[in-house]
Parts: sequence; C-alpha cells; structure tokens
Amino acid sequence: MMVFAGPCGVLPREQMEREVEFLAQWRDDCDLVIRAGAHKGQLNPNCKMVDGVLVPTKEEYVGLGEEGVAILEHIERTYDIPTCTELMNSEQVVRAAELTWAQVGARHCGNLPLLRFLRSWHGKVLLKRGPANTLTELLGAAAHLEYQSDNEVILCERGVVTHDHGDSRIRWRPDILAIAQLKADHPRYKVILDCSHSTGRRDLVLPMAKAGIAAGADGVMIEVMHDPDQSMTDSAQGVDHDMFCRIMEAIL
Ligand code: PEP
Ligand code: MN
Repeated sequence: MMVFAGPCGVLPREQMEREVEFLAQWRDDCDLVIRAGAHKGQLNPNCKMVDGVLVPTKEEYVGLGEEGVAILEHIERTYDIPTCTELMNSEQVVRAAELTWAQVGARHCGNLPLLRFLRSWHGKVLLKRGPANTLTELLGAAAHLEYQSDNEVILCERGVVTHDHGDSRIRWRPDILAIAQLKADHPRYKVILDCSHSTGRRDLVLPMAKAGIAAGADGVMIEVMHDPDQSMTDSAQGVDHDMFCRIMEAIL
C-alpha cells in the first residue's frame, strides 16, 4: 500500500523533522512517501470550516518555496524516505531535481507545457486528476508525461465537481467509481485516492480511505501534522497524529 502523508505545506526544518520522525514508524508497513507542498498553488488555500461554512481566514500563503524544497532534500538524505512535492513550472522542476517524486497538482492536469517539460524528470510522477477532468483527459495527461520518457506515472483521484458543488460542507467529491474503473480498464497504472483534498474534512478521511481501498486503490494521500489547526493551509482537513494512527491501523 502506498501512503503519501505529511503536512499540507512544508514546515520549517525542525518541525518537519518531527513530523517525519512520527511518520517513519510506518516505513516498514507501507510504501511511505513524505508529501508536503513547497510551492502552494491552491486558489483558495486559506479557507477554514467555521460552523459548517468555508470562510477565508488568512492572507495569501504560497509556501516556503526554494527553502521548502531544500528541507525536503534534507529529509530524503537524513531519513532515506522518498518525498513528493507539487511543481508548477519548469523552473520549479529543475530546482527540485534531487527529490524522488514530482506532483502534478489538480490545477495543472491539463498544463501541457508542464507535462511536456516533466518528461525530462525521468522519475516518479504523481499525476492528480483535475476536478473537472474526464478520465480520458487524465489518461491523456499521463500519456504526455510518459511520451519518450522513462517516467513512472501514478494517478491520483482527488475529488471532482458535481451538481451539488454548492454544498460548502465538502470541498470536492471523491470519484470512487473512477478508481475501480481505472483499475479495471487500465491495470498498468497504480491509482491512489487523496482522502484529504477530495473532501476537505478530517472526519471524512477514514471513511473515504476505506472506500478508496475497497474500490481497488493502491494507496492513499493523507494530510497529517501534529496540530493541523495551526496549518497555514487546508487546516480543516488535516488529521492529527492520533487520528492518523487510527486511520493507519484501519487500512493497513
Ligand atoms: C495538494 O496536493 O497540495 C493540493 C493543492 O491538492 P490539489 O492539487 O489536489 O488541490
Ligand atoms: Mn493541502
């Protein structure tokens, strides 16, 4: 089982080390990847759930940037655990070359110049489906990443827009069917479910993880940190360490 876990954004070095030391307890039980954004690219990253309604609470936060990439490099060297971060343009790709995994974020699933540039990555790429992308588009994006490249592409379902997108209590809607369908029709791809971004709510992470795995997912993405309420981004969906332990016990 692949488990992409970590705080939404890369934390300052010592805090990040504490998160990794916590997560390392599962390194022998799953294929653990430390995932955290050095460059944050959400268009509404700072919303919090207040009384069942998403409200903007903080000023724009775009992540630690280059410093965050350096912290992830340090994590890979020190703990020998692969890391993954979203890369949004060619410059970011070039400067993150030491990392094991590049993430194509949901907003960039159809960013052809980025996909083409990432052919030179020659490594592992986590490709997120955009919230309005069809599976054909997702597979097309994967094909662009793979063309004349030895990239290994893994697909990530992270929630789609539906007719009731106006329901502010959830952020997106995990397309569980897409997981089963991709595994049935395109078995060469590993598929994971992002249980955090797909709902935006920490109480829904465990049921969605179980549902994704039941549908055939090869793994999950879960945002976790010591005190998720303090997170600069996506605080409503991050699970704390206790909750993460309970989720791992339930799914491993
Ligand atoms: C993320 O994974 O950090 C993220 C921003 O998610 P998404 O691209 O799925 O919105
Ligand atoms: Mn996030």
